[in-house]
Amino acid sequence: MHTNDCPQTRSLLSLSVGGWVRTFVASAVIVAVPSTFAQDTSEGTAKSTESATESATGTSTETTNTTPSAPADNVPAPTERPQIHKAIGAADPLVQSFNEHLTILASPWMEGRLPGTRGMERAMEYMEDQFRKAGLEPGFQPSEGGSKTYRQPFSLGGKREVVEERITALCGNELAFTAGTDFKLTSLGKSGSAEGEIAFVGYGIEDGPEGYSSFADDHSLEGKIALVFRFEPMNEQGKSLWSEGEGWSGRAGFAGKIGAVAKRKPAAIIVVNTPGANDPRIDSLTTAGGGRAMADAPVFMMSTAAAEKLVAACDGKRSLMDLRKLADNPPADQPKSFDLTGSKVSIAGRIEEKPVLAENVVGVLPGRGALAKEVIVIGGHLDHLGQGDFGSREGPGKLHPGADDNASGSAGVILLGDLLKKEYDTLPAETPLRTIVFIGFSAEESGLNGSRYYVDNPIYPIKDTVLMMNFDMIGRIKDGRLSVTESSAKGMQEWAAPIYAKSPLTIVRGERSGGGSDHASFQQAGVPILFAIIADFHDDYHTSRDVSELIDREASVEAIKLWQALASDMARRPERFELDTTAGPMRAQPMRVRAGMRTRELEDGGLEVVDVTKDGSAEKAGIQKGDRIIKWNKKDIATRAEFVDELRTHEVGDKVQAVFIRNGEEKTVYVEMQGAPNSQ
Ligand SMILES: [Zn+2]
Repeated sequence: MHTNDCPQTRSLLSLSVGGWVRTFVASAVIVAVPSTFAQDTSEGTAKSTESATESATGTSTETTNTTPSAPADNVPAPTERPQIHKAIGAADPLVQSFNEHLTILASPWMEGRLPGTRGMERAMEYMEDQFRKAGLEPGFQPSEGGSKTYRQPFSLGGKREVVEERITALCGNELAFTAGTDFKLTSLGKSGSAEGEIAFVGYGIEDGPEGYSSFADDHSLEGKIALVFRFEPMNEQGKSLWSEGEGWSGRAGFAGKIGAVAKRKPAAIIVVNTPGANDPRIDSLTTAGGGRAMADAPVFMMSTAAAEKLVAACDGKRSLMDLRKLADNPPADQPKSFDLTGSKVSIAGRIEEKPVLAENVVGVLPGRGALAKEVIVIGGHLDHLGQGDFGSREGPGKLHPGADDNASGSAGVILLGDLLKKEYDTLPAETPLRTIVFIGFSAEESGLNGSRYYVDNPIYPIKDTVLMMNFDMIGRIKDGRLSVTESSAKGMQEWAAPIYAKSPLTIVRGERSGGGSDHASFQQAGVPILFAIIADFHDDYHTSRDVSELIDREASVEAIKLWQALASDMARRPERFELDTTAGPMRAQPMRVRAGMRTRELEDGGLEVVDVTKDGSAEKAGIQKGDRIIKWNKKDIATRAEFVDELRTHEVGDKVQAVFIRNGEEKTVYVEMQGAPNSQ
């Protein structure tokens, strides 16, 4: 929320249409110059722009000397390059506007639009600014009174944040360790501080094969600092002694290890990156994201090097590797776990649950006359994955611009707000018109949270909401093919078909099923929906490669024009659609796909994969036996019934997001659904 009081950002955004965009353009890659700029100075400035670009981008356009250097093989000679400003200047004004909104929302300035971040705040301010400029009214009345706003706030739960972390060895000379490099407090435990002796507990595993246990029966950990190795017993090469083939067995995970140590009531737990382990993760101190706490004591991760120093200072007889060897093959005549006698370590760790707030951006186009009480919702999610913190198919660490997903749909919602407002303004005052609510949803990627919150806390009664139109990825339309899904409501197909027919796009009907995006929240509440998404998926989805250069602006604008035609007709249509209840709940739907795995419910939630079918959907996506599925199709999955219900909404070829825990680590994959036998 800090962006609000940061003058610099505000002034930048108020410049958003003119100065800032221009400066941004000059300094970055090929993007839009506002058409107005191009037209009046096209010839003259073209020249200047080129020289400007050179200085800004340092690419040699050789405008000064006449002999251009030989262009690289596949780079067209400067003279052959399309001149962006000319292309934009010549483009349809709607394409120019779409291009501007898209380029800004997918720009690095928006930092991948992760809820709760500065980048997302900028994106929301931009959308709000555009809604205001279009003349849409603020939609949300704050419960504490005051004037209406364009923001509908909602809580995204809490984020566990480390506010204090300290480890000091008091064995002889005081040895303070450095947070962040030597160790990190994890969110696997609770806050606390303590001073105590080090209790070495090997790998912290109590139910290994052949009765292997890391714990000596008579060894109490109460009030002590438990030192435990990551993974499980390993051989000279640092590979597991227990798992057949690559990787670690299910016993190496944090959940089992922390649980076994914690129940012995130590004052704190330090998990050490095991020396010599053949796993790239031993160089990192991060653990899986802020899941639920597994221990009542603070749990730290410590680097191998720091643990070497700790053992050297506090034991002095054995090295860290000596301790590992003892844990790999505990000698029968020695205790499996023991204290480093005379050692003392002082620790402190404090985690605070910081509420994460998110906001839907809401603009209203009031209706008129007899139809004004009824509402059409036009929406799309504004959020994306930030730096790929979660949900990335590539892994965290890189900017995920989310140009197609869903800067394209958000730019569409902004444009539709402007187009439909203008349309309403041109119609005779007595024309009965429905109210249209434009929404940029937040937190869709983490589970349709914004749309679910809106449906539970609607601005207009859900029973009066006659249609929800959702855009999610309309940027990379291939061969003019757009997938549009309609609810099974009487007369809806007959109504929509002639409007589809007027579009130059090829409308692929309902190939993409109900779930997976914000319309699903409305569908579940009994609102008829229209959902548009690219018909042919690309492999840049949920990666850092989903960039604005790859967006087919013209095709996107055709999708927007189609949505305008549908919305404009629905705004005046005397009757509303009634959902076809004979279709019955989802359960009635025949199962068309097969997940290719057998699962069983776990008492603390999620489904354990007990078996995967060879070459089945799950195996192909990389899901393994022992994995714990916690999310499917962006929904939390606690029971098999919920899972099966979701499966019923899928079609062959759907790529469905699955999130699971393996060895305490959260993983995200996309499962391509294979057909169920005789699912023709
Ligand atoms: Zn999306």
